[in-house]
Amino acid sequence: MCKAKSRIWHPFTQHALQGEMTKILRGEGAYLYTADDRRIIDAIASWWVVTHGHCHPYIVSAIQKQAEKLNQIIFAGHTHEPAEEVASLLLKLAPRGLDYVFFSDSGSTSVEVALKFALGYWRNIGQSRSRIVVMQHSYHGDTVGTMSVGARGVFNAAYEPLLFEVTSVPFPALGHEQPTLDALEAACRNENPAAFIVEPLILGAGGMLMYPAWVLNEMKRICETSGVLFIADEVMTGWGRTGTLFACEQAGVTPDIACYSKGLTGGSLPLAVTLCRGDIFDAHYSKDRTRTFFHSSSYTANPVACAAAKANLDLWCNHETYERVASVAAMQKQKIEPFRADARFGNVRQTGTITALELKVCDEGYLANIGPRLQAFFSDRDLLLRPLGNTIYVMPPYCVTSADLEEIYAAINDAADELV
Ligand code: PLP
Repeated sequence: MCKAKSRIWHPFTQHALQGEMTKILRGEGAYLYTADDRRIIDAIASWWVVTHGHCHPYIVSAIQKQAEKLNQIIFAGHTHEPAEEVASLLLKLAPRGLDYVFFSDSGSTSVEVALKFALGYWRNIGQSRSRIVVMQHSYHGDTVGTMSVGARGVFNAAYEPLLFEVTSVPFPALGHEQPTLDALEAACRNENPAAFIVEPLILGAGGMLMYPAWVLNEMKRICETSGVLFIADEVMTGWGRTGTLFACEQAGVTPDIACYSKGLTGGSLPLAVTLCRGDIFDAHYSKDRTRTFFHSSSYTANPVACAAAKANLDLWCNHETYERVASVAAMQKQKIEPFRADARFGNVRQTGTITALELKVCDEGYLANIGPRLQAFFSDRDLLLRPLGNTIYVMPPYCVTSADLEEIYAAINDAADELV
């Protein structure tokens, strides 16, 4: 017996509670156009992926040209120009010291690759290290490996028996940074871990939790001193989100392994990369075939997705993109300011182009009833906002206008009046 009208099973969706799906016909810039003639402002960049705007003409044109030339090729034993160009541009733009690029298809797979890089490295240099150190409240994806290194809770309770054990250090809340550093130091000293994985500057799905660059710098120093690999999961924080191209730049940190996805194609097609230091590649480089990095997926480095990524990287070689990012950050700062003194909200915060605040309600947390009510309220105002429980955040494409942001923040203000 089928209980839902459509046979499509949507992600992170409780179909028993979900109303009619919003049907989108077209996207342009910061806007989505629906089948029932509405224009919606995309205030969360369609799950944090759309950076320059929907259907950016330069990226669309690159996709069209590539699709007519070569749209798929097995990437084992073969290469192609878009992948070569993306790799060489990435190595120029990423923090110095990252030497190799491995392609995959999503943020989760880029993290899986990072974890496998770390374990493969230690095994191939003859050390037995497998433990991963993680940060409390982290999110790294929904595959089994990434769930293992992410926060445990309602998202993954059913799959707990499949998850591997990790060591968790506390989130460095403002004024409580030292316990994080102490715990990381202790874990590195006592547990002989393979790697520490962290979202630099902002923990996204964990609630848009922000911490300062000096903590990131200290965490890297601790890992470096104890020889533990430092993995930066920049899947969300990359591509200008924190105000710089990559968040690690603000801490002057070069990770040993870095994961990038989401905005890698400007949010147009699925693609991801995992970058690593030369010695991690070297540990796998051998005439002994057992030392191969055993990982692939059918569409690894798909040429059309790579052409989109190349176009995105071109845009990041242009200073106007950085000016847009700075302008969005400045507009966000101005619009969020009045909420700082507003008693209905707490923990009002910003890093770069991302703002977040908590609506003060009785029930808090991801499953708080206020979450879906807020979402429906915003949808009625033609805004795509998807609060994490009572945490409302704004992460727009960089083509958003001041008037768009005005509408978004007016709705947040009204939501507090009408729903609480
Ligand atoms: N890592 C971080 C920090 C993320 O925010 C996400 C997704 O939101 C992922 C990994 C997983 O990315 P994907 O959904 O593309 O698998």
